[in-house]
Amino acid sequence: MTIFTKIINHEIAANRVYEDDFTLAFHDIDPQAPIHILVIPKKEIADLQSCDGETVSYLLNAVQLVAKKMKLDEAGYRVVINNGRDAGQEVEHLHFHILGGTKLGHIHHQDRTKSAT
Ligand code: AMP
Repeated sequence: MTIFTKIINHEIAANRVYEDDFTLAFHDIDPQAPIHILVIPKKEIADLQSCDGETVSYLLNAVQLVAKKMKLDEAGYRVVINNGRDAGQEVEHLHFHILGGTKLGHIHHQDRTKSAT
């Protein structure tokens, strides 16, 4: 069981912003932007690879609703999934990060095949 299951079950507190039968959204405890919210499935799903398409659509629908509720829909926001080890996924319960509330820096691909010089 991950920490997110404990949040779903109200065993530990979280600052909840949205909830329905399938999804839960709450503020990230260590925000990386003025608004940083996590959207998770209530089912225990480890990562995107083990998630069915219907659940993905519920999650993205929740992302849209949360973005509107937080007034991010006009200015924009970023949705990030750290999926698996190389992406640095820390909590093995699928989660979509919603980041916004400021102009976000661009993500640049770092080409590790070239030397830094
Ligand atoms: P990731 O690195 O994509 O697995 O992201 C995990 C995220 O969960 C991080 O941004 C953490 O700050 C966040 N997090 C961990 N524990 C909690 C918690 N108890 N409440 C809210 N967010 C959390």
